[in-house]
Amino acid sequence: MSKPFKTLDDMGDVRGKRVLVREDLNVPMDGDTVTDDTRLRATLPTVTELADKGAIVLILAHFGRPKGQPNPGMSLSRVRSAYEAVLGRPVAYIDWENDAAGVAALREGDVAVLENTRFFGGEEKNDAATVERFVALGDLYVNDAFSAAHRAHASTEGLAHALPAFAGRAMEAELDALEKALGNPEHPVAAVVGGAKVSSKLDVLKHLVTRVDHLIIGGGMANTFLAARGVNVGKSLCEHDLTGTADDILDAADRAGCTVHLPYDVVVAKAFKPNPETRTVNVHEVAAEEMILDIGPAAVEALGDVLKNCRTLVWNGPLGAFETPPFDAATVALAKTAAALTEDGSLVSVAGGGDTVAALNHAGVADSFTFVSTAGGAFLEWMEGRELPGVAALIT
Ligand code: ADP
Ligand code: MG
Repeated sequence: MSKPFKTLDDMGDVRGKRVLVREDLNVPMDGDTVTDDTRLRATLPTVTELADKGAIVLILAHFGRPKGQPNPGMSLSRVRSAYEAVLGRPVAYIDWENDAAGVAALREGDVAVLENTRFFGGEEKNDAATVERFVALGDLYVNDAFSAAHRAHASTEGLAHALPAFAGRAMEAELDALEKALGNPEHPVAAVVGGAKVSSKLDVLKHLVTRVDHLIIGGGMANTFLAARGVNVGKSLCEHDLTGTADDILDAADRAGCTVHLPYDVVVAKAFKPNPETRTVNVHEVAAEEMILDIGPAAVEALGDVLKNCRTLVWNGPLGAFETPPFDAATVALAKTAAALTEDGSLVSVAGGGDTVAALNHAGVADSFTFVSTAGGAFLEWMEGRELPGVAALIT
């Protein structure tokens, strides 16, 4: 099936061409050390393929929030050596604004990181002058940074209209996975939505009830829904001012034929600390001084059965306060069920969200999911059904 966007396969002969590749190199650092190189590794397929085909690879990326001003602490020169180690080939760093000769000197197969795009005020404003300055550097444009695609910036959106534009391999994999999960999924589809608060995921919930067959609600946000149904949630994290909104979401689900699954048993404690005294109770038996910190084993078992009957799963948000044992139990158990079903070939499983990725890694199953997105904001906006400007600009 042909894709609605062009990929590296559509670029033709790139030998000697200058290819501007938008990547996400915004890695966490402690002093001079990159503490998590996941984002650097994600660029490998695209950068390696283009360089091996003889392109001159010019990488555009942002780093931190310099707010349109040059700032040495946020120079991409700081990631150059770590990036070189990940790519296993020399990487030049070019402060191109002050070093036009540096770009001109590059040869076929060379890879260069260009200075932080956000050192230019026009990057975030997506102004035509800034787009033109980038255009002057290259012949072709590749966007490989899904995680930055929810922003309409010069390097993520403007350039796609100004040069022949293609999706990189990481972008392509992300878009393919998201299409399989929510765009055009095999039904029945289940969504797991957890995490701390309803308020941060209202638009996600509102969109999902129109798209999925089963909406599984866990985490702190389940407490707000339980409260809306008249459950006394004690001292649990709960947005009491949003119970009306929770009711509206439940009604919308009803109208759309989406079955909402709330936990009927929960794990409670009087103190939120590692390994406190806990009780596993029916949701109607939470005491006034107790907090719900995880969903219970009976609920997890029932949810496992729901997943067994589904073909597609999209997951954002842990089911409990998974950082604090034993409140990781439900998240780990359901994640393992989803992983096993995926490995059996009966489920397509796509997950995303900062804490969700951490929880799946903690459960040891991230590699067994069909796709795990490390894009935070962009993944959530996609779950809200919003058009991402950086993606829309690639659609032909
Ligand atoms: P993501 O980053 O994957 O989108 P969120 O940031 O929305 O996820 O939510 C993750 C947080 O929710 C975790 O820190 C977790 O401890 C918290 N959480 C989950 N369930 C509960 C609960 N019952 N009570 C308090 N916090 C919870
Ligand atoms: Mg989070």
